[in-house]
Amino acid sequence: MSVPATRVAERVCPVCGGSGEHRLTTTDRNRGIDTERFAYLTCRTCATLYLAKVPEDLERYYPPDYYPLGAEGRAIQSERAKLALLRRFVSGGSLIEIGPGAGGFAGEAQRGGFDVRVIEMDDGACAHLRSLGIQTFQSAEPDEMLAVMAPSDAIVLWHVFEHLADPVALVRAAAANLRPGGVLLLAVPNPRAFQLRVLGARWPHIDAPRHLQLVPAATLLRLAGVAGLAPVALMGADRTGRDWNVFGWQHLAVRLNSAAARRRAAFYGAAILATALAPLERGGLRGSTYTAVFRKDVAP
Ligand SMILES: [Zn+2]
Repeated sequence: MSVPATRVAERVCPVCGGSGEHRLTTTDRNRGIDTERFAYLTCRTCATLYLAKVPEDLERYYPPDYYPLGAEGRAIQSERAKLALLRRFVSGGSLIEIGPGAGGFAGEAQRGGFDVRVIEMDDGACAHLRSLGIQTFQSAEPDEMLAVMAPSDAIVLWHVFEHLADPVALVRAAAANLRPGGVLLLAVPNPRAFQLRVLGARWPHIDAPRHLQLVPAATLLRLAGVAGLAPVALMGADRTGRDWNVFGWQHLAVRLNSAAARRRAAFYGAAILATALAPLERGGLRGSTYTAVFRKDVAP
């Protein structure tokens, strides 16, 4: 099925406004919504890897099953690990999660004593979150929503930052919303990943066209610094990061082996490969993802 090319003009770097050079071209390999081709550029100034042209009908690439509502209980171990990670930097108080999806982490944080609010754009996800008793604010522009919300002690985005149209506005709005001493936690795919170098356009974390930009850690640190946020941790090898590394290899292996009978073998083979590569991926922040934590300066 051919789809009319309804595209806006080629973007400049969404982080620094610099120009980009072509890095790779791919299709929606993860979900196969259509056969449209998407180019990604690397910013010559800040090395952000970004989608050259954002489809005007981007919402079409988020099908109804994008949010596995009701599945939030199945991944409880990883949600607990995420909460334990956050607690290393903030013990409690008011927490805002942006893009909570099915609400697994938000629910766990609420049960763990945080006063939780979430910002979510999807209708179905919002209804689901409210049914779980989570205070839900519906918006596709989290920076604008943050500007009118009461201050918080922590703002978290688990693999959401790369989906946002204006990542700079988000960091600024988060910095403005946080109380002095509050923390911003961002878990994102890593454009300096070893897997990206090896797999190129086949790397699952490209996730075209849903991932609008993959920001290198050094660039994110500069961006946060300008907004008044000081880095307190940069992790490429935390538990959730390692899980995502394994996910990358497993996801690829399953996709490359279309025969159903071979899928299981491919899945476990990839897990072994991921284990073997783990030291290399964890060294020097070359993993598939990284998690950065910033703290708002206590006012002078
Ligand atoms: Zn840039």
